[in-house]
This record gives sequence, C-alpha cells and structure tokens, in this order.
Amino acid sequence: MDPHTDLLQGVDATETVSRLRTAFDTGRTKPLIWRKTQLRALRRLLTEHEQVFTAALHADLGKNTTEAYTTEIGFTVNEIDHTLRHLDRWLRPRRVSVPLSLAPARARTVREPLGTVLIISPWNYPLQLTLAPLVAALAAGNCAVVKPSELAPATSAALAHWLPQVLDPQAVAVVEGGVAETTALLEQRFDHVFYTGNGTVGRIVMAAAARHLTPVTLELGGKSPAVVEPGADLATAARRIAWGKFMNSGQTCVAPDYILAIGETAAGIEPHLVAAIREMYGDDPATSADYGRIVNERHFDRLTTLLTDGRTVTGGEHDRPARYIAPTVLADVTPDSAVMREEIFGPILPIVPVPDLDAAISFITERDKPLALYAFTASQRSKRRLTTETSSGALAFGVPNAHLTVPGLPFGGVGESGLGRYHGSYSLDTFSHTKAVLDKPLLLDTLRLAYPPFTRRKERVLRRVV
Ligand code: NAD
Repeated sequence: MDPHTDLLQGVDATETVSRLRTAFDTGRTKPLIWRKTQLRALRRLLTEHEQVFTAALHADLGKNTTEAYTTEIGFTVNEIDHTLRHLDRWLRPRRVSVPLSLAPARARTVREPLGTVLIISPWNYPLQLTLAPLVAALAAGNCAVVKPSELAPATSAALAHWLPQVLDPQAVAVVEGGVAETTALLEQRFDHVFYTGNGTVGRIVMAAAARHLTPVTLELGGKSPAVVEPGADLATAARRIAWGKFMNSGQTCVAPDYILAIGETAAGIEPHLVAAIREMYGDDPATSADYGRIVNERHFDRLTTLLTDGRTVTGGEHDRPARYIAPTVLADVTPDSAVMREEIFGPILPIVPVPDLDAAISFITERDKPLALYAFTASQRSKRRLTTETSSGALAFGVPNAHLTVPGLPFGGVGESGLGRYHGSYSLDTFSHTKAVLDKPLLLDTLRLAYPPFTRRKERVLRRVV
C-alpha cells in the first residue's frame, strides 16, 4: 500500500507506532543532515504553500491573513530558522570537569533523541501548536506521530495531506481524529508525549503515559491576569491588552483573561478599552475582516452564558449562526462570578477592581498558577514584587502574548498551567535525553586506592581527594 494513503487513513495506531519505532531503530533520524533536511522541507512547505494554510485557518477560525501569518505560519518559520541557526551548537557535546579523585578522565554530556514521540495539538492555533513541537521533535532526531485537533478540521486535513509528502514518511505520521483515535494512540508506548490543550485531558494524557513510564509535556491554559497600576499609561495599556485579548477572538492560551485593576484604573481604563476596540475593529466588529469567529457552537454557547456578568462597557452582541461574539468588556466583575471561575477562552474581558498591589498579589497567589501574568506599571518596585511574590509560566511587563516570540525564552506553564517547556533550545531539552558520558583510560589504574581491602593510609588519602 502507498505509505501516504496509509498515513492519511491513519487508523491503526499499533501499526503506525511500530512502523515509526522500526524506522527510529535504523538510526535514519539521527544524522544532523536528516534533521536539517526535514526542517528545511517544512519551511519550504510553509512558504511555498502559504495560501493552503491561510485558507484552512480562515475556514476553521475566520483568521485573517495577517494574523494567520504572524501567529501561525510566520511564527513557525521563525522557529525553524532559529533552530537551523543554532542546532549545531545546541547538539555539541558539553565538556564537564572531573573530580581529582577520578583523574585522569574526561566527562561530557551528549544529547540523544528520545525515540518516537506523540504530539497532540489543540484547535486554537492549530498550525503553530502542531508544527512548533514537531520542529523540536525532528531537530532532536525523533520520529513523531502528530495528532492535530479535530475541532480545526481544515487545518488538520491540510497537515495530514502535506506533511507526509514533504517530510520523511517513515519517520513522521499524521493521525487525524478525535477522542477515539487519540485514546488508541495513547495506549501505545511512546518515548515522550507532548500535549497542548486543557487540564482535564492533560490528566488523561498523563495517566495513559504513566502506564509506560513515558515522560510528558503538558502545555495547558488557565486564567492569565493583567494587572494595571495607577501611574501606567492607560491608553497604551488598554490598546495592548485589547490587542492580546481579542486576537483570534480571545481563543489564545496566553491571552489576558481578565484585568486586575488597581484603584482608580478600574474606571480609568474603560474609555481607553472602548476606544482601542473601535480603533482596531471599527464601529461594528462583525463586519471587520480582522476579527475572528468562535470555533464551534459548543464554545459559542458556553461563552454567551458569561455575557451577563458585571456591567457591559462595550460589546455583548452575538450571532450564533455566524459564531460571532463582539469584543466585550465587563466592568465591576466580582471574583465569584461565573466569568471568573474558569478560563474564558473567548472575547470577553472582565475588569476586576482591587484596592492595591497587595490585594492584586493575594488575588493571584490564591488561585491556580497562571500560564502568563501581565502587568502594566511604571513602578520598578512593583515589578520586583510581582517577580518575586507570584508564580506563573511567564511574566511580562507592558505587553501581553509577545514573550512567545522571543526565541531565547522558554514557553510553558507551572502547576495547573502546565508541565515542561519548549521553544528554541528548550525544545531540544524537552525532546532529547542528556546522556552522561565518562571516559577513564585503562592505562593507569589510579583507582586502586578505592579498592578494598581498606587501610588507614588509604582512608587518609581518600578523605583528602573525594
Ligand atoms: P482540543 O479540544 O483541540 O483538545 C486538544 C487535543 O486533545 C485534541 O487533539 C483532541 O483531539 C484531544 N482530546 C480531546 N479530548 C480527549 C480525550 N478525552 N482523550 C484524549 N485526547 C483528547 O483543545 P482544547 O482543550 O479545547 O484547547 C483549549 C485549551 O488549551 C485551553 O485551556 C487553552 O488555554 C489551552 N491551550 C494551551 C496552550 C499552551 O501552549 N499552553 C496553547 C493553546 C491552548
């Protein structure tokens, strides 16, 4: 059977995984040249067939072309370029010093691929969140099974069609499908499972992986707060928060989930948010080509039940057949309201007033550790306090979402927001095993001192050198 057809049907999880395992055992994925060839082929696919993916992202999420490029296609191309630029160095063995008691000897660390890995990705950035981990897996020399989200069917189909054509089909398989297919895959033994999505499924993934003692990376979500302090430039803060929140209609894992507004900023930021939304999406965002749609009816229905909390400052309009929800700002939201109970993951921005920074810090630390914490403040002291007194996957001052685009920064959560990290060299850490290698020549048996029978003299010397 044509291996491509087999990949597209992708039903037999056992067969797919064992085929990839066999390919890994031949050593074909280990040479640097193989890895770079895969990355370059992926890069070519994205640049030469950009329209295919842009159209798929539009079909799935109403993503406009610019956003599809900056947050998905271009983002992945940058990740590939950064990896290609630094891969030789990242893979170089590292010399480490050896204690005197072992001299003469040499020690180093060597990175080796893990084997065959599983990448399960979500629907909100269905291209980036599938391919960035795949770039990492291939750069580290692994075989990979990729399971895109069934909730972004056009992007999933495009990946299933194109990846086996440009990548080594013996080393990369795309399995399309939902819970049944993912469950079948999770029964297999992988050498790493990389999951992006929600914490409930994250627990299922981790439990399944535990049966094989397979390590996992869980890239999860949660409520990422944006703290706004008096003294910050509210117009700029509002523009940046609105940008980070309403891109992809709020369906971004690192989007500011709510504003923790200190003191007078709660009222002060309202008109600036209204102005920022109008500036970006016009008087009627429903007609803006730059504003996306909710992924499906289930999420639409979930989100519209949250629209009644607090006082509506702007937005609130919605249209089920079009899966449209206007960029919405809710003020005077209380911590116990429905919109504050779970990650919103949609275009609804609550403003929660707090009296001071102490209250803001307590608010954050009493809840699950966020994937990202944002703060808009002019005070260095507040920045220092937020850095040392709170815990989150990332902390960014002055701008939301953008830390992902700094290739030298790790991306990942902590606690409920995830386990592990990737991007740049951190991706290599995630998808490699760092092996300890010690090399002691046999010529001179300097270890004699350590062998029994022990004497007082031996012990005296050993105590000095060990
Ligand atoms: P989703 O529904 O697309 O699910 C993700 C993957 O899990 C899909 O491939 C799906 O097929 C699979 N899956 C679903 N149910 C399963 C089950 N019972 N067993 C096995 N596999 C199953 O995505 P989602 O969870 O709706 O994504 C949204 C969540 O993901 C949000 O919480 C968001 O914050 C988070 N997220 C995190 C990141 C990050 O990088 N940290 C990025 C994007 C989204």
